[in-house]
Amino acid sequence: MKIVFSKYYTVKTPGHVFRAGKFEAALNMLLKDGIVLKKDIVAPAAPSKADLLLAHSPAWVKKNLKFGFTPEDSVKAELTITRGVARAHMMNVGGTIKAARLALKNGVGINCGGGAHHAFKDHGEGFCLLNDIAIAVKKLLKERLIRRAMIIDLDAHQGNGTAAIFRGDKRVFTFSMHGVETYPEKRERSSLDIELKAGTGDAVYLAVLKRGLSRVLDEFRPDLAVYLAGADVYKGDALGGLGLTMLGIKKRDAFVFSECRGRGVPVALTLGGGYALKPENSAKIHAETIKSALSRHAGDL
Ligand SMILES: [Zn+2]
Repeated sequence: MKIVFSKYYTVKTPGHVFRAGKFEAALNMLLKDGIVLKKDIVAPAAPSKADLLLAHSPAWVKKNLKFGFTPEDSVKAELTITRGVARAHMMNVGGTIKAARLALKNGVGINCGGGAHHAFKDHGEGFCLLNDIAIAVKKLLKERLIRRAMIIDLDAHQGNGTAAIFRGDKRVFTFSMHGVETYPEKRERSSLDIELKAGTGDAVYLAVLKRGLSRVLDEFRPDLAVYLAGADVYKGDALGGLGLTMLGIKKRDAFVFSECRGRGVPVALTLGGGYALKPENSAKIHAETIKSALSRHAGDL
């Protein structure tokens, strides 16, 4: 089973709550435990301009390709956009495209990164510049490899950029389950938004997820699901606030993979947010999510 990862994902963002190194740290944990072998890691190609234009405006694509950002772009994205940061976001797009292709081929595709769901058509927001999920889904739709896709966004924050990009597109169902009192202040409308109170905890979270997700999977019957498994639902997270334990997150992931597998829906995994007060915990959660994806895959064989 391949894991998509680029060394360019790891970029220094001194003092920033988003530590891009968490993806590589998660991968290193899996390598250390022998769950992933070096030969399983595949590097993505950079996306083409045409790929980026599938979900973004020409002006925003130009800024990303030519490094033509203004100081206001960094303010909006709440992230100092250096060349390294821009390249990391670009390569994450390539990573999610590759993971989506692997999902169609193998049942599961894993991007050890990705999940920039706050990126809008014409600007970046919430530490996100390019919406890798929207681009990957639009690309596979365009290539007619899929007819319908579902985005299962379980990051603690609403997938506002993704919702806005796909608004009115009947081919794509956007499912977002997130905290009601956190970023973003101005919400977009997903196909289904489920809002949870701060400190929701495992029991309520899992019950609500089970009720909500099974029904929409049955009704919409996607050809591909892109799962955004945000680690920021963790109780020790600085920004998420939903109060899940590590065990609760494991159950969340197992449920999503099992629901999709049970219906024969391929899953492309992206990791998204994770701002644990002890940074190694975000990496640990990401590693566990990948383990869950791999074990579900093994069950298919
Ligand atoms: Zn988040």
